[in-house]
Amino acid sequence: MYEGAVQDLIDELGRLPGVGPKSAQRIAFHLLATDAADVRRLVDALTEVKARVRFCEICGNVAESETCRVCADPRRSDEVICVVEEPKDVVAIERTREFRGKYHVLGGAINPLDNVGPDDLRISELMSRLADGSVTEVIIATDPNVEGEATATYLSRLIGPMGVTVSRLASGLPVGGDLEYADEVTLGRAFEGRRVVGA
Ligand SMILES: [Zn+2]
Repeated sequence: MYEGAVQDLIDELGRLPGVGPKSAQRIAFHLLATDAADVRRLVDALTEVKARVRFCEICGNVAESETCRVCADPRRSDEVICVVEEPKDVVAIERTREFRGKYHVLGGAINPLDNVGPDDLRISELMSRLADGSVTEVIIATDPNVEGEATATYLSRLIGPMGVTVSRLASGLPVGGDLEYADEVTLGRAFEGRRVVGA
């Protein structure tokens, strides 16, 4: 619709999650009208995040070195692993201060409509972490929606027979939503009231 650089920018913005063609256009024209120094800061932030941030080799959380801050913390228990979909869920759970174990970030949830199956998630990495028997409990904290539930069921069937206690966050979280939308108190309670799911 537009020429050259403007259209290139709109196309790139439109590829971001949750940004439709209209939003892409609005952001592009906002940037065109913005001071060069402000745009420079945005460019620097993008460049920095790609240069410095990577994913933790152990848990898949965002990290600025080989392992993330949680995995590198010797005060945190290695016996309990909390499984979440995305790094933002780690942040949400950390805010509750209820959890002193380690995490495992799957990188999404099973979603047949989007062609996301178990092999597309970091499930084999999770199984490797459970292999030496030092983990006694896996808390599944996937989102309280259809995909999160499907993923939780799949994981509990896979892990249960290994003799590891599998628990799921208590109900009371906003159903259909994202873990990150739950407030700290609700999420903290759901954590405390987690229930063991049968093998
Ligand atoms: Zn980690």
